[in-house]
Amino acid sequence: MTKTQSAEKFMTAKKNLVVIGNGMVGHKFLELMIAKGATQQWNLVTFCEETRVAYDRVNLSGYFSGKTAADLSLVEPGLYQENGIEIHIGDKAVAINREEKTVTSANGVEVTYDKIVLATGSYPFVPPITGKDAQGTFVYRTIDDLEAMSAYAKTCKVGVVIGGGLLGLECANALKNMGLTTHVIEFAPRLMPVQIDDAGGAILRNKIEELGVSVHTNKSTTEILNENGKVVKMLFADGSFLETDMIVFSAGIRPRDEIARNSGIEVGDRGGIIINDYCQTSDPNIYAIGECALYQNRIYGLVAPGYTMAGVVADILSNSAKSSFTGADMSTKLKLLGVDVASFGDNFAKTPGAKEIAIADSVQGVYKKLVLNQDGTLLLGGILVGDASAYGTLLQFMQNAIALPPHPEDLLMPPREGKAAAVGMGVDSLPDTAQICSCNNVSKAQICTAIQEGNITDIATLKKCTKAGTGCGGCVPLVTDILKSEMKKAGIEVKNNLCEHFSYSRQELYHLVRTHNIKTFDDLIHRHGKGMGCEICKPAVASILASTWNDHILETPHVSLQDTNDYYLANIQRDGTYSVVPRVPGGELTPDKLIVLGEVAKDFGLYTKITGGQRIDLFGARVDQLPHIWRRLIDTGFESGHAYGKALRTVKSCVGSTWCRFGVQDSTSLAIEVELRYRGLRAPHKLKSAVSGCTRECAEAQSKDFGIIATEKGWNLYVCGNGGMKPQHAVLLASDIDKETLIKYVDRFLMFYIRTANRLERTATWFNKLEGGIDYLKQVILEDSLGICAELEAEMTHLINTYECEWKATIEDPEKIQRFRHFVNDDSPDPSLVHIEERGQKRPAYEHEKSPVGSLN
Ligand SMILES: Cc1cc2nc3c(=O)[nH]c(=O)nc-3n(C[C@H](O)[C@H](O)[C@H](O)COP(=O)(O)OP(=O)(O)OC[C@H]3O[C@@H](n4cnc5c(N)ncnc54)[C@H](O)[C@@H]3O)c2cc1C
Ligand code: SF4
Repeated sequence: MTKTQSAEKFMTAKKNLVVIGNGMVGHKFLELMIAKGATQQWNLVTFCEETRVAYDRVNLSGYFSGKTAADLSLVEPGLYQENGIEIHIGDKAVAINREEKTVTSANGVEVTYDKIVLATGSYPFVPPITGKDAQGTFVYRTIDDLEAMSAYAKTCKVGVVIGGGLLGLECANALKNMGLTTHVIEFAPRLMPVQIDDAGGAILRNKIEELGVSVHTNKSTTEILNENGKVVKMLFADGSFLETDMIVFSAGIRPRDEIARNSGIEVGDRGGIIINDYCQTSDPNIYAIGECALYQNRIYGLVAPGYTMAGVVADILSNSAKSSFTGADMSTKLKLLGVDVASFGDNFAKTPGAKEIAIADSVQGVYKKLVLNQDGTLLLGGILVGDASAYGTLLQFMQNAIALPPHPEDLLMPPREGKAAAVGMGVDSLPDTAQICSCNNVSKAQICTAIQEGNITDIATLKKCTKAGTGCGGCVPLVTDILKSEMKKAGIEVKNNLCEHFSYSRQELYHLVRTHNIKTFDDLIHRHGKGMGCEICKPAVASILASTWNDHILETPHVSLQDTNDYYLANIQRDGTYSVVPRVPGGELTPDKLIVLGEVAKDFGLYTKITGGQRIDLFGARVDQLPHIWRRLIDTGFESGHAYGKALRTVKSCVGSTWCRFGVQDSTSLAIEVELRYRGLRAPHKLKSAVSGCTRECAEAQSKDFGIIATEKGWNLYVCGNGGMKPQHAVLLASDIDKETLIKYVDRFLMFYIRTANRLERTATWFNKLEGGIDYLKQVILEDSLGICAELEAEMTHLINTYECEWKATIEDPEKIQRFRHFVNDDSPDPSLVHIEERGQKRPAYEHEKSPVGSLN
């Protein structure tokens, strides 16, 4: 406060607290002081050098995707005024007089203080390169920086980012989105050298280069040349050069400690205001928090540690709790150029005795590494590149020292077919103390209490109320799960939106796709969603598009939406190899085809097993072997069995009247006809079927999504049964019908299910939720009560007419075949695969059978 204002305020006998810096952490501190009622004890004054109050720097790049400064603002309008906080916007604090206890600003404001909190943040480091000040050079820290960059970029064609760390890559994304040919120059041998290791760095680099950004590692810039004062060229230490129109420096940060330094407060040798466990500087009346503070020789370049420091000082100065700062976790989850990257805990396995488990899939661009303690029971850290969906869960395992499941590698894989997610992964299994949002230090108990007390039923309100998920966003899936779980417990209907990117259910999206003739995910999200999509909506929309238009799932607009199994048209196994399952309609297999299967298995060293669906599964194929295997199989007349897809699997059958003395109809012929009719049909979940030749039911048709049993008069049709984890008997939909009627009803039933089910909902679960149960279903399918049966039949006819074997189409297309290599630029097989011989066949080794532990490092 100015001296006049302070005279008035002194009457209140409150003490004066000056906060220097109104960035993310300075603002958080003020918010906490308000929340703790500390405005009763303190007159709060803050200096804000920038021309706008605190905004969300973490999501700064959102400015380039249309967010305004107002959208990014962190300060609720009127918050400071209502709480009597005096803010000096666009005014930098320039001096602290510790003897007279005053702070002076650039605009000449002088304020007396009892305590000061320094929250001055950091500035981007610009290396001392000759020519660094030419026109066309920028940094990436403030809204003003971004405004300047975007104005200049309008005249540019090429842009370079110096620095391949997380901010550098974010910045590269911005340049790319501005339509510039983009390069990233990194001094170190890999990208993001602090967060990820060599193997992760290689995958990240591939992914980023695939997106059209050129990456140059091991490069040191020696000079920036200009023409008429404008940047034109960069020279490198290795003698090479690069022509460019603009350069953005993102080569690290340096703490803004000048005001402390100039007033005699201790700073570190390499900068940073030294603080103790209470965030006090060498002057006990002055605290430092956020990126300007140096704690145990470390500057934390993330927002969460700054928020923790803000909490500590707010506790101390409001006398609300005894707390101290003891360091902070540097876990991060980011999306860089659309690529997920996460790193947490002991990511480089520095703990003595630590073990590593890693999977690297260069084709899909996924790298996942877990660091375990010596006996493999606890998670110490990890790195995720390309797919960080498990981040929230893994972080909980680490932070709460939850015992790992017997096969920790399961945590890196999608749940195996028919199995629940790995042990301990549900939110209900987390303790109340579990820290869910590390950016804002929000525990599970706080989230649950907010939901219960505020009757919260949507994620936006929950985020606003608890602040959970408003930092880096990495915990949003967990926060959402907690909300759903609490709502369920309270008996409240859970909204059926597909995910945070679409405010529609799967059923509604299906309808939108069909009625608006939408053919791609990008078009759908552009017209009816927001953001870039996630691991929930992408495969769900891919499935809707396939169920509607039946394009090949590996066509360019669809391929990046597919999950790993669909991406390789094969099921990934626990050792990272794949299985091959050709279609065997009705389980009928000629001796010649059997021989070819045997030969292929021998030639490629595959494990063979007869499946419950009457076909032969070949296990242990490497990605690069898949096309060769399939070429042999297709030449013999086999087709894809779609064992990898949420699609029709098998139509099992008995031999029926052809061989069996009890048989009353030819169940095998019908099973073959049904399987060929619906082969390749994509659905919300997998579909299984069976045909039995009489009521003895040897094909177990009543445990299938649709099952057919022969009668003396024709066929009985059963629907919505399944085996698996929660077996359910199918229900009789129609009896004694002829084959044509049967096929018509199955067409209608399947399309009705495809239209209306939720994502990943089997027919049994869908049926259990159907109001009116079997009577309603009979009305819709048999009596056409909704008047949609002609449409349903026409939709099915389209799908049947447009069927093609996905594998045949793939091996005939050189572009699609490109993907089936283990390393993108290399045809060599994966050296990390280890197999053990058992009962005359090979199987993947368990971790304890490998030597050393299955690490790629
Ligand atoms: C593009 C970008 C992306 C990022 N992404 C992430 C991320 O994903 N996750 C993550 O955890 N972190 C991220 N960060 C880092 C995060 O933004 C910082 O950790 C956080 O902003 C630090 O807060 P702070 O308040 O310490 O500093 P700042 O937010 O920088 O605020 C300091 C403020 O103090 C002002 N100031 C300085 N000196 C004075 C003075 N003498 N008088 C008055 N005012 C002064 C400055 O102008 C500034 O406004 C990102 C940063 C950037 C730039
Ligand atoms: S279901 Fe009937 S027809 Fe089929 S094998 Fe069994 S007994 Fe024979």
